[in-house]
Amino acid sequence: MVFYQCSKCKKVWQQPVEICPECFSRLEKVKTLKAKVVGISKVSISSVPHPEVPYFALVLEDELGNKWANKSVKEYAIGEEINFTTGSDNSVAVWRTKYDIIDSIEKIFSLLNLSLNENLKIVILPTLFSPNHAYFRDNTSPEFLDAVLKFLFEKNIKLENIKIATQSFDEAPIEGMAQKSGLLDICLKNKIMPLDLSKSNFVKKGNLEIAEDILNADIVLNLSMMKACKASASENIYRTLKKENFASLKYLQSEEDIVNELKNNLTNIVTLGEADFVQKQNKTIVYPGLILGSKSFLNLDRVFNEIMMVDKLPEILKEVDIQNIEITGRDIKEVKCINN
Ligand SMILES: [Zn+2]
Repeated sequence: MVFYQCSKCKKVWQQPVEICPECFSRLEKVKTLKAKVVGISKVSISSVPHPEVPYFALVLEDELGNKWANKSVKEYAIGEEINFTTGSDNSVAVWRTKYDIIDSIEKIFSLLNLSLNENLKIVILPTLFSPNHAYFRDNTSPEFLDAVLKFLFEKNIKLENIKIATQSFDEAPIEGMAQKSGLLDICLKNKIMPLDLSKSNFVKKGNLEIAEDILNADIVLNLSMMKACKASASENIYRTLKKENFASLKYLQSEEDIVNELKNNLTNIVTLGEADFVQKQNKTIVYPGLILGSKSFLNLDRVFNEIMMVDKLPEILKEVDIQNIEITGRDIKEVKCINN
């Protein structure tokens, strides 16, 4: 849990208000690790934001005495400590982003048991599908990309080892999309020149032609902007293919075959699913306030659609059985969101 404490008068806030409202000093981030239950209310009546009942509204307290509310479907006793176990390789981590995206990315990495070292070569693959402003939630949001970069810098990843890359699959030029979405500004602010994959080298792997930069990376961070009723994380992975190759594969085979071949050839993908504000099927926006993470983009898409309670799954997810997916962090019953 992250709190913000005034360096002078020591008052503590849950929100990152930056400047202390009492004495105008700067606030410092304070991270705490333990959380024990100090209050419990059982809720048995469902409501629009909480469709699954019963659940427990807990009051938690950390080792410094900070308190906050937390929803849980698991019943706890007063005094019990809350622990989250880490998952195995294809598990999906689900976490609530409160105010601090960097902190929630860090939590996802720890739930997935993934560590980073300073020599890793990382390619960031943002979602960049349309020349739209950030509030449409079509593309990765500027604040999410900025938080991912700050997280990598905090982990001492070298600037020269980070690439930000994607490409356009339609008529809209990638430069225009990067500019209008606000992502270009974030790249330049962090001194990274984005890479247009369509102008890079591709390597043949079976039926696929995959960008060489993607194959050579230690980790490809697939930044997926999650949308209800879509396989957003998997669809973003298509952008690692040569445009003409993807078009001909789509003509010759099913999308399920393409996605499975990609899954077998790309073992360096870590998907971060951005799901704070999310587009529903009718393009209006809801606020699940979530972040998801997984080494399996298909499992992540399946879990997200379960959270959004969609009635019709995208074709490529129909064979992915939710019962076989290990979920860590938050229980999906706690974070389900009515999608109508
Ligand atoms: Zn103060």
